[in-house]
Amino acid sequence: MSSFTTYGPFDGPVLMIGSGSIAHGTLPLVLRHFDIGADDITVLGPEVEDDPVLQQLGVRTVAAALTAGNYRELLTPLLAQGSRRAFCVNLSVDTSSVEIMALCRRLGCLYIDTVVEPWPGFYDDASAPLAARTNYALRKSLLAERRANPGGPTAVSACGANPGMVSWFVKQALLDVAGRTGVAYERPATRDEWARLMQACGVKGVHIAERDTQRARSPRDIGTFVNTWSVDGFLSEGLQPAELGWGTHERWFPPTARRHDDPGAPSIYMVQPGADTRVRTWCPTAGPQYGLCVTHNESISIADYFTLGEGADVVYRPTCHYAYHPADDAMLSWHELLGRGCATPSRQVVLDEAEILDGIDELGVLLYGHGANAYWYGSRLSVEETRSLVPFQNATGLQVTSAVLAGMVWAVENPEAGIVEADEMDFERCLEVQLAYLGPVEGHFTDWTPLSTQSPLFPRDLDEDDPWQFRNVLVH
Ligand code: NAD
Repeated sequence: MSSFTTYGPFDGPVLMIGSGSIAHGTLPLVLRHFDIGADDITVLGPEVEDDPVLQQLGVRTVAAALTAGNYRELLTPLLAQGSRRAFCVNLSVDTSSVEIMALCRRLGCLYIDTVVEPWPGFYDDASAPLAARTNYALRKSLLAERRANPGGPTAVSACGANPGMVSWFVKQALLDVAGRTGVAYERPATRDEWARLMQACGVKGVHIAERDTQRARSPRDIGTFVNTWSVDGFLSEGLQPAELGWGTHERWFPPTARRHDDPGAPSIYMVQPGADTRVRTWCPTAGPQYGLCVTHNESISIADYFTLGEGADVVYRPTCHYAYHPADDAMLSWHELLGRGCATPSRQVVLDEAEILDGIDELGVLLYGHGANAYWYGSRLSVEETRSLVPFQNATGLQVTSAVLAGMVWAVENPEAGIVEADEMDFERCLEVQLAYLGPVEGHFTDWTPLSTQSPLFPRDLDEDDPWQFRNVLVH
């Protein structure tokens, strides 16, 4: 008998869209933790034929690329399964999350994805205003769908590692900060209570602070973009405008930043790509480091979730943004790609677990500006531990796929919750499901601030009175 926890009840079947690195890694977890056979799982995508992982697992395949014109026709027969409730797990690029989610819910199916993804043409439309290419715009389309169709079958939006798991980390980290700083609180139960606790703790902001130290066995060739997860996905988001949830404590506005027309927007965007926007941050292994302020859904959803007040009457909101130091090969790949005017790389490589020599993906949240200065809480999963836990993925992948698993479990246990974001789910239940796959999950207090690592050799435009101003965080 298997020693792994089985979550259920689960009607099946599962329809997975996409067969990339995250799909490969999610499949063994689904087979391990749900009472479902491989013949009840179908993987649809343009590259499923002759895929050795899919063949080894024995799942069914449908070779097709979804488009705005064909997705209803292709997906409906695979999802409409009479009295059985199908679960659609969308792990593809170049497909509209919101449209596929809406179809699933109309058909009574459960749904999960790891990003609010658009149809092709969204990310690289140079004629579109910058604001239209933001994650704020993508998330707005999701929230509009939820407003138009409240309740109903559960659809979990943007539930990978980040966006996803990091929203659960923020809540645990906040409780730890409250404990350390002696802020008395009743266990928050509502969004308003969580936001009040964050305000009471004096948290000024949150970095999604990540350092990926996974190293390839073979050196990178010039012209090749190397990453530890989807190169297409990273190129898309890295070339979107940098974005951040904009906190109420900020008293400087970056010259390259812009506000959205909607005064209630929790975020701002910058007239520069996130992959070319450096911020100062901190992770346990490297300590102080530069990260990239690549736009992410959670920068906006976390800032929004912890907002007190509305519209022009907002009284509290944390700043929130990604501060990502990807694998060294990926950093160099960006350097080269940006230097070449963002020309398409001649080759793309997503390093699998066999191609990686060693390293960890250190992914956590840094809550800063409170009575104990700053606190990093997160996963420090190594590729070695990942190999011992589950096949077909590296450490980056497992942080994502185990969050997909947790999101699926939550959806099965809460099948009529409507459209939800990770911030709104039971963080303790989700982390309980995920914990076995995250390696060491640790909290670290630090006395580092963005002012501690400014070079005295050159003058800087700084705010010496408040270390945690974005003016000090942004490298400008
Ligand atoms: P990948 O590039 O390895 O795979 C993408 C898959 O999408 C491929 O199998 C491709 O064939 C498929 N695809 C492309 N066009 C399609 C279409 N028209 N119809 C159906 N399938 C199509 O990407 P990945 O690393 O597996 O990542 C998958 C998704 O997960 C991406 O959207 C990525 O941004 C997201 N992601 C989220 C997180 C997170 O933490 N939230 C982390 C990593 C990846």
